[in-house]
Amino acid sequence: MARPKRLLIVDDDPGIVALIEQLAESLGFDVRPLGNAADLSGDCSAFLPDLIVLDLRMPGMDGAQALRILADSGSEAEIILFSGADARVLNSAARLGESHGLRIRGVLRKPVDLEDLESELKAFLGCSGSSLGDELRVAVSDGKIDVNYQPKIRLNDTGDWQVIGLEVLARWQHPTRGPVSPVEFIPIAEELGIIRDLTDLVLDQAIAESERLLGVGHRLQMAVNLSPLVLSDPKTPDRLASRIAKSAIEPQQIIVEITENAAMSEGVDAIESLTRFRLKGMELSMDDFGTAYSSLVQLYRMPFSELKIDKFLVLDIERSDEACVIVRSVVDLAHNLGLSVCAEGIETQPVLQYLRSIGCDHGQGFLISKPLTGEQLMRFLPRSAPNEAANIAAVMGRH
Ligand code: C2E
Ligand code: MG
Ligand code: MG
Repeated sequence: MARPKRLLIVDDDPGIVALIEQLAESLGFDVRPLGNAADLSGDCSAFLPDLIVLDLRMPGMDGAQALRILADSGSEAEIILFSGADARVLNSAARLGESHGLRIRGVLRKPVDLEDLESELKAFLGCSGSSLGDELRVAVSDGKIDVNYQPKIRLNDTGDWQVIGLEVLARWQHPTRGPVSPVEFIPIAEELGIIRDLTDLVLDQAIAESERLLGVGHRLQMAVNLSPLVLSDPKTPDRLASRIAKSAIEPQQIIVEITENAAMSEGVDAIESLTRFRLKGMELSMDDFGTAYSSLVQLYRMPFSELKIDKFLVLDIERSDEACVIVRSVVDLAHNLGLSVCAEGIETQPVLQYLRSIGCDHGQGFLISKPLTGEQLMRFLPRSAPNEAANIAAVMGRH
């Protein structure tokens, strides 16, 4: 029989430790509570936990120090960060952990919600180790990766929501765990070398949906996310172009989204692929702008047509004057470089109004619509788009 998974609970509140301990033991974990993080490194090497629940506020040591100690001790455990601090602090601690190379599994807010904790622990038991990867491999080879479409609108002054395109987002419904976030499964697909197959599944669905939409009068752009590994494969632009050529859609309808990090780190290969996408007629968007340190000169040299402002900056517009200044400057910068700008993560009316007031071109976010299935999309879009009829006739006539 496999040994029980080991859980280390690092928290100075005995009441919380007892609660988690009881719950985890009932699920079959081997639990070690640690009320004092003074010898966190020693405790980790002695116990070799598979999972650590880490309180970010311990007496004598804050979470940032604890993360550094875990990183220095070479911890391979997955880590759930746990704190009463606000969501931004938790998220930035999560990023800090990741930048140390730690495996941050998630964040939980105090006061503890036992149901959330239980599902986190069960999810860990169901999917830890290599089995999630094995299951993903099967899902990809069986074509069991779905996609959702998040509407993107034009932020014009009239106040009407005019949908101009859709972002295609991969979805995996795990048979026992339920939906798994792409933030979790895309890196696994990259690690396993199946990201190309996964991307093909996503693209095929996006192209089929575009054709279906054309058939009912909607000529919308489809934005697909490409991972750095797919970008650095020199065959990618041709593969994408040949899929498009076999369909009823035009290359201009496809926007390739590349994260700022990927575009900047892949050097010459990236520039070659990016240039070839544009030469083949596709649009290019720099995704999650504002999360990395890009050189503005690089941005100017790369053939992007759109810049997408990261949702963390957009979410901060209401809370922080600095975020407003950055977003406004990014919009100006992009326009001065001849790029259009899309803001992602619009959740409230004031943020939408602010973005309109500074001339941001396009937007997407939960305020407008969550990502939708193909069926939900049909209900979301207006029934007909008569002004597009001529376009469609022209496009269909080519095939
Ligand atoms: P992304 O490309 O930046 O996609 C936007 C993410 O923000 C999506 O998360 C979307 O659901 C979420 N989002 C949209 N509006 C809002 C909002 O108003 N508030 C908040 N808080 N979030 C919002 P999702 O679907 O979980 O995808 C996460 C990331 O996974 C994507 O970030 C993208 O980097 C990656 N991803 C998704 N599908 C694919 C894919 O097919 N291939 C690759 N390589 N990566 C993918
Ligand atoms: Mg994207
Ligand atoms: Mg993004």
